[in-house]
Amino acid sequence: MGSLPSKVGQKISHQPVLLKEALEYLNVKKGEKYLDATVGGGGHAEAIFKKGGQILGIDFDPEAIKAAREHLSQACPSRQSSKKLVETTASWRLAQGNFAHLKEIAGKEGFLPVSGVLFDLGVSSYQLENSRRGFSFRSSALLDMRMDPTLEVTAADLVNALGKKELARVFASLAEEEHSRRIADAIVRARKNKPIRTCRDLADLISGVVSQGRSRLHPATKAFQALRMVVNDELNNLRQALPQAAEILKSRDRLVIISFHSGEDRIAKQFLRSEKDKRLKILTKKPLRPSAQEIESNPRSRSAKLRAAEKR
Ligand code: SAH
Repeated sequence: MGSLPSKVGQKISHQPVLLKEALEYLNVKKGEKYLDATVGGGGHAEAIFKKGGQILGIDFDPEAIKAAREHLSQACPSRQSSKKLVETTASWRLAQGNFAHLKEIAGKEGFLPVSGVLFDLGVSSYQLENSRRGFSFRSSALLDMRMDPTLEVTAADLVNALGKKELARVFASLAEEEHSRRIADAIVRARKNKPIRTCRDLADLISGVVSQGRSRLHPATKAFQALRMVVNDELNNLRQALPQAAEILKSRDRLVIISFHSGEDRIAKQFLRSEKDKRLKILTKKPLRPSAQEIESNPRSRSAKLRAAEKR
């Protein structure tokens, strides 16, 4: 997809991950309904639209909905869900909400049943790079990380309130951070003097106790990821959403899940296995990975895994 305008004026671009593969597995058919559970900036949605699908795009971040609306208005003009056209041609519409309630949201939009459901999990480049949102290491913004601004607990609340053991458990279990105890210890020591407020406060604190090693990633990458997962309740949302996705699909239609870390992928894998002899047929024996070329041109794709299944 192209560049999205941000509030601070810079252009941020988000390239849809595993786009060709996602389209192939969704097997988009003209005029059929596709639920994009994580519409983000609308990159995958645009491609589904261009294949003739009707899209309902969901996102719990109102800024993502706004960005998707701007992008799709330009990239997919003229047929914007005029009621008359909905039944017959490509169209798109957007709904703000948590995909943990996707059946209810799709029902309210009169969008059931569907011919495909896509999850492209995690954060968008738009969210990561928008320094106000509190995801990026160098930002002097508050350590926030809420994708849905109605959520009550920020990442700063967590690092200032959780006990040392709990913090270490979060870092180790959600992001496989090997220095989890050392980081938790440093956080608890630092906050005795003053609360940890900004992204940079936390990132510098972690850089001070964990060296970068051979990885090109910032030493705070995993800790930030783990906090983001807790703030947004990411694994529980996915656990709740997958059975609903399987339920609202029509027979022979497809579910595609793109995940970005082992916790998400495990949930996707276990869910597909648990449904294997029931509602779903697994189409990807092993998850698909992006090519070296895609990783090179879009580093966000480096940890992506795509799994797909067909409703029986
Ligand atoms: N496929 C999109 C990018 C998606 S990025 C594109 O090509 O542009 C992932 C998006 O999922 C983010 O915008 C994030 O806000 C959203 N998201 C994450 N968890 C969600 C949830 N539980 N409910 C709704 N949206 C969610």
